[in-house]
Amino acid sequence: MTQTIKLSCACGSVEMEAVDPPIMSTECLCTSCRTAAGVFEALPGAPRLREATGGTRTEMYRKDRVRCVKGADHLREHRLTAQTTTRRVVATCCNTPIFLDFTSGHWIDLYGPLWPAGTLPPLQMRTMTGDMDDPSTLPNDVPNLRTHSAGFFLRLILAWAAMGFRRPRADYVKGVLDVPA
Ligand SMILES: [Zn+2]
Ligand SMILES: [Zn+2]
Repeated sequence: MTQTIKLSCACGSVEMEAVDPPIMSTECLCTSCRTAAGVFEALPGAPRLREATGGTRTEMYRKDRVRCVKGADHLREHRLTAQTTTRRVVATCCNTPIFLDFTSGHWIDLYGPLWPAGTLPPLQMRTMTGDMDDPSTLPNDVPNLRTHSAGFFLRLILAWAAMGFRRPRADYVKGVLDVPA
């Protein structure tokens, strides 16, 4: 059954809506996610983004099932390099990280800490653990994938087929995040 959920930044100026269910509930341990999380957590007043493992928890949604309903003016994107098509979006009103967007992809990764305590869907897998110095330190509660799995890609492709293979854009993000050098 579909249900619309509301998520907001820490101060409440930005509100997002997403239509459940998510495609997948994952935690990414890739170097880029860990690096970006460190950048965001260093912003003034920023909430914690990394899990105890160092990974970043996200809920993946079809891009056509996520929208910004309030405060889009506060959203700024951050790219780790000038060339990358991957951007991470922060609400600058209170420096809450909101989502990760592979701009050419059909899904959006909403950051797990946006969910009120106790309401985040259960974790299904950790991805990109091969980027860690020592993945053996991870708990064994869910599959710890070195990169991704066939099942991971199958879920993404099935979601894309259900969208008629369209690639919507999250065009409500305006401007680039200021990051202290
Ligand atoms: Zn805010
Ligand atoms: Zn990652």
